[in-house]
Parts: sequence; structure tokens; C-alpha cells
Amino acid sequence: MSAPATRILLIEDDPGIRRFVRLVLEDEGWQVFEADSARRGLIEAASRQPDLVILDLGLPDADGKQVLAELRGWSRVPVLVLSAREREDEKVAALDAGADDYLVKPFGVPELMARLRVMLRRRQQSGVAGAASSQVVFGQVQVDLATHEVRRDGQAVHLTPIEFRLLAALIAGQGRVLTHRQLLLQVWGPEYLSRAHYLRVHMANLRQKIETEPAQPRHLVTELQVGYRLVGLAGESAQGPL
Ligand code: CA
Repeated sequence: MSAPATRILLIEDDPGIRRFVRLVLEDEGWQVFEADSARRGLIEAASRQPDLVILDLGLPDADGKQVLAELRGWSRVPVLVLSAREREDEKVAALDAGADDYLVKPFGVPELMARLRVMLRRRQQSGVAGAASSQVVFGQVQVDLATHEVRRDGQAVHLTPIEFRLLAALIAGQGRVLTHRQLLLQVWGPEYLSRAHYLRVHMANLRQKIETEPAQPRHLVTELQVGYRLVGLAGESAQGPL
């Protein structure tokens, strides 16, 4: 017997995008449920128990962020947000509210599929995360989260406590985009939310120590106007930033 098909819920009011995404996902052998409004989307999310939700932010009856807020009250299902290019602040707000990733419209099939595969793999792995060791590897870098030891190409790397907290926050994100706000909160605390320059400075220092070519980072990747993500964690796909 084959494994049950991956179930994707698509909440999007544009019929053209729905048709396009449905074709692509069904081609992958996945099962697709559609909703054309926020209200319908929440009903489908509760009744279909999807493995992943694709959520448009501009819905006719409510903002997609409201759907996300309600959904996060009872579900940790991974959510990929679709946003229009001109609504940068909405995208960031959606990530802060618990979205796992985002795509800007218009997007291509390879980009969509790459994002979805990473999210689904992360979901599978999080089931066994409790048993995972404290050792994390990406590229030539080894990190021990218990002892705070970091090595690059086998050589010990000394990180300051702030740099280590920043790296640990990105590792905990497991490849997810973390917004500037989320990183400032996790690494420095709520009183530092306006100090975006702290993040820039410490990220630059961390890249100097971790990346082979700090000016062209392969692992500590910038998401323009949004935040940062860690790319290439062992167990994830080896591909670079999209
Ligand atoms: Ca829309």
C-alpha cells in the first residue's frame, strides 16, 4: 500500500492562481483542497487536517493575517504565505504572526516546489526533534548547542555570547525565515526592538567567523527587507537561496 498523499490546503481568491497551483501540486501526486475566502479556509483547515497551508494575504472577506492568527490558536500546521510585492509590511507581519515562509507573487513553479518541499521535510523531522543530538552541521560548520563549541573546517571558532545566541536562534528556525523583530526579541529582548543596527553588526561579525566568503554568505542568508535564514542545515536540501 502506498503512503497517504500529502494534503495541501490552498486559500486563495484568485481562480487563475488556484488553477495553476492545483495543477502543479497534483502533478506532484499531492491532494489539494481549495478555499476562496478566509471563512471557507478556516473551515477547510479544521475539517481536512492538511499537512500544509498556502495562504494568500489579500482575501475578500478578511486579511490573511487574521486567518493565520485564528489558525495558530489551534494548529501548528506549516503555512506558506503568498503576498503581492507592494505589501512588504504585510509579509513581515504575517511571519511575525507565525507564518513559516512566504512567496512573492508572481512566483515560478521551481520556487514554489522548493519552498514546499523544505517545509514538508521540516515538518517530518520535527516529529523526531526531541531525540536529536546537540550537534548541528551546515556546510563546513559544526555547532554543539550544549557546549557552545563551534568549529569551521575542524578549527575552533570563538563566538561572543550574543553571536552564539544569534546563531542558535537561526538554527532553531531550521531554515525558516526569521524576521528582524523575531531575532531582536529572541537574542536581545523586547526593549531592543528598535535596534535593528545591532542585528546588522552582529550578523556581519558572525558571517566573518562562520562563512568561507563573508561577502557572499551561503548559510547566513539575508531576506531583503524581512530578516535572515539559515540555509544548508544537514538533513535539509543542499540547495542555496532561491
Ligand atoms: Ca488575493
